[in-house]
Amino acid sequence: MQKSKHYFFIDAVNKRLNPDDLEVTTFQQKLYRLNAGLAGEEKLKRVISDYNLRSKGRIYYNFECVNASGYTHQIDGLLVTAHFIVIFEVKQISGTLFYKPALHEFYRVSESNLQENFPNPFDQAYRHQLFIEYLLKTWQISIPVYYMVVIANIRAKLDSSLMDYPIMHISGVPYYLEKLYEQHPKPQANLSILQNHFALLYKQLPPRRTIEKHRLRKGVLCKQCQYLNVMYYKQGYFECSICQTKNKDAIIESLVHYRILISPRITNKEFREFFNIPCIHTASKMLRKLGLEKHGTNKGAFYIIPDSW
Ligand SMILES: [Zn+2]
Repeated sequence: MQKSKHYFFIDAVNKRLNPDDLEVTTFQQKLYRLNAGLAGEEKLKRVISDYNLRSKGRIYYNFECVNASGYTHQIDGLLVTAHFIVIFEVKQISGTLFYKPALHEFYRVSESNLQENFPNPFDQAYRHQLFIEYLLKTWQISIPVYYMVVIANIRAKLDSSLMDYPIMHISGVPYYLEKLYEQHPKPQANLSILQNHFALLYKQLPPRRTIEKHRLRKGVLCKQCQYLNVMYYKQGYFECSICQTKNKDAIIESLVHYRILISPRITNKEFREFFNIPCIHTASKMLRKLGLEKHGTNKGAFYIIPDSW
């Protein structure tokens, strides 16, 4: 499952945000929603892996790209076969879902009888469909594109106002695909050409937010303590001031947070300030040992924090 850069950003903010920040709850809710979304995609993945596609196909989860106007598309599930393409919009909504088609209004009534509007998933998926159809035309490939909104929460109830719309519980996906194969029994495109096009189109999107450095807690944070406590540098390792966990590599995760939240570049001075290392020579030695690439010389020198270790 491909987690987005936005996901890693929100996750890191939740570990680093000052506890008295005004947006603590906002960021917690964002992470909660992103995790629910991932769980939904995970369920779709299980249902589709269990089902034997009648032809070779490729499914992309959380497919991200940018269109010609510079706007972004994030598709929860994109099934590409030589017969047809299906866009899956996965929803983990609870309660009872209703639709007023003439108004394009999609809403749910929760178990406590609270009515709440949601972004219309049909309009979201339709926008993706138009985009993919446009691309196919430019690639001179002619296969049909469908979309389906799948509800990953088994307890959600779908009101009959949704009856004639492309929405179903996730368990219906194999039957739905079987019907599509019956409608389109002959392959009409070359799958590997299609895959190449989508591979070129794919682009990981940047996080949809930024955050000011002063709102974040500094230091190497202790994973054992759910990132609540700071670890201090002793000779060659970090030690948690509360649970006394010792760890040589704890700094790596904190450097990754730095890259995601602040910058992929770090100077010796910034490194000492952020990770509470008093000595410039110790800092240089640590940076070297961590294998960070050094650029520039003297005062202008900085290090690059890699994408992965
Ligand atoms: Zn600890």
